[in-house]
Amino acid sequence: MTRGGHHGAQELIDPFGRLIEDLRISITDRCNFRCTYCMPEEGMKFLPRSEVMSFEEIERLSRIFVERYGVRGIRLTGGEPTVRAHLPLLVEKLAAIEGVNGPVDLAMTTNGATMRHLAQTLRDAGLRRVNISLDTLDRPKFFEMTRRDELDNVLDGIEAAKEAGFDPVKINAVIERGVNDDEIVALAEYGRRREVEVRFIEFMPLDADGHWENAQVVGQDEIVETINATYPIEQMPARGAAPADRFRYLDGRGSIGVIPTVTKPFCGDCDRVRLTAEGQFRTCLFETREFDLMSAMRAGESDDEIARRIEAAVATKWAGHRINQVNFVRPAKSMSQIGG
Ligand code: SAM
Repeated sequence: MTRGGHHGAQELIDPFGRLIEDLRISITDRCNFRCTYCMPEEGMKFLPRSEVMSFEEIERLSRIFVERYGVRGIRLTGGEPTVRAHLPLLVEKLAAIEGVNGPVDLAMTTNGATMRHLAQTLRDAGLRRVNISLDTLDRPKFFEMTRRDELDNVLDGIEAAKEAGFDPVKINAVIERGVNDDEIVALAEYGRRREVEVRFIEFMPLDADGHWENAQVVGQDEIVETINATYPIEQMPARGAAPADRFRYLDGRGSIGVIPTVTKPFCGDCDRVRLTAEGQFRTCLFETREFDLMSAMRAGESDDEIARRIEAAVATKWAGHRINQVNFVRPAKSMSQIGG
């Protein structure tokens, strides 16, 4: 589903008129954490190396999206992107891609544990933005949630990202009822103090253990009311295609975001598509269908042929996920296997 667009490029437009401008690429399904809301403690089966997209394959698909379809943003994720060997080389390759909308806006989501060692190199290689995940400021709780004793390294990694010049550094905090919902204000305070934007994420049904229940979701309204009671906030103008609703502190000390996937789905404004580490194309985090671009590439298909596959897939993008409906079917893959 394309139409002639800006300066001769095509645009990827889905059946509901949404323009696809953002590509999330999982570059590995491996991770050095085992967050309870994402991965199992033991027994995770990782892809063999030969089934993971090579840097050349990632670059090739990225070029198609950016050069052919004017995609503006690419976000690297996983698994944990920083465990992929030679990551700065990949960043360098991708940062050099320029489409009709200019150089690609290259971002990464990471758990931050090794950012002290990597931040400057990644920045120099052309990475523009980072989001770092941090769900709690309490060391035992951090261990309970991630099954790793890495809180100090993550906090230091956030400082390293700031020192390397990433601006803004955003923090992703998944809030789970009965686990870390007592830390909403503490996390907001951390953001104010360290001048980073904390984005509170509603817990989604993508945990590997399949334990997700609606009752564990702390919704946007509750998060906003909780913060507002201590630090008054007001909603900022409409988010556009970005997933976070933003709120600013009335005292001028920054802002927060809330990603209300479950209680206030924002599918109507979705401009995102995804590639898993094994080169499967997905049009929604919660889709059960995937389109196999890896086999197409390895069978020697041309860019034109692969582009046709991408267009056919985008033509199936649904109006929205069905988390709140009785006929919701969880994807067989968990968040770390899809790429959050
Ligand atoms: N390893 C990196 C990280 O920790 O940020 C990148 C991949 S991780 C899957 C991307 C984001 O998804 C993280 O912010 C993580 O907290 C979030 N996430 C994982 N499972 C989730 C779930 N079930 N519900 C909501 N967010 C989740």
